Amino acid sequence: MIKLSGIYKKFQQHEVLKGIDLEVKKGDVLTIIGPSGSGKTTFLRCINFLEKPDEGTIEIGSTLKVNAIKPSKKDILALRQKTAMVFQNYNLFQNKTVLENIMEGLTVVQKKSKQEAREVAERLLHKIGLEEKRDAYPSSLSGGQQQRVGIARALALNPEVILFDEPTSALDPEMVGEVLQLMKQIAAEGITMIVVTHEIDFAHEVSNRVVFMDGGHIVEEGTPEEVIVHPQKERTQQFLKRLR
Ligand code: ATP
Repeated sequence: MIKLSGIYKKFQQHEVLKGIDLEVKKGDVLTIIGPSGSGKTTFLRCINFLEKPDEGTIEIGSTLKVNAIKPSKKDILALRQKTAMVFQNYNLFQNKTVLENIMEGLTVVQKKSKQEAREVAERLLHKIGLEEKRDAYPSSLSGGQQQRVGIARALALNPEVILFDEPTSALDPEMVGEVLQLMKQIAAEGITMIVVTHEIDFAHEVSNRVVFMDGGHIVEEGTPEEVIVHPQKERTQQFLKRLR
């Protein structure tokens, strides 16, 4: 369970998040949709303190509750160990091979032996279908392949939740499908996921909960059927109409 309560965030005078409350259950695939600038990415980055919220609390499981006003370093570390992030621009280490990229968090953060990390990384390479790229460097991979490595790297950490920040936005259209397919596969395995996306079809087909954000608020949330097919709020209706 992940529970976010009263999350506020300002950049200078610009109030970007205006009190967000959200609960995510184990195994949920929650997508966050909404217009550009509505605060989706900022909210996602507040969950693991890549952005420090100005106010609010973040709970993960029954043992970790972090108050944004005065978090301890230990709390932030614990939060980061329980979450993994997949970035829009992959953020792979360019000077490391595909295998080393997947192993990195296991050896450096989780202090696993190289042998153990390699075994996990090889199993994940098989899962993402990139065994033949084991020793290649990221620059020789397509965007879609790099993002699949980004997802494998997140999976390797066995986190409580994977946070996806517009994972297909930087991809050429022909590569979007392979990444969404992999996300669909891991969603079906019961991995808890929070996905900021502009892919409404993915949100509809794969997630079990959808949040529509606008102006730093959650305007509407519910099942894909409720939010995407039969939105109740006018702002949601207008946003979806523009996409069609
Ligand atoms: P998009 O769909 O375009 O990615 P979004 O809903 O994810 O948009 P955010 O990226 O969270 O929106 O940005 C919300 C607002 O906060 C925007 O006006 C943005 O310019 C501002 N913002 C985000 N990060 C910063 C920052 N580091 N410094 C100043 N302003 C920021």
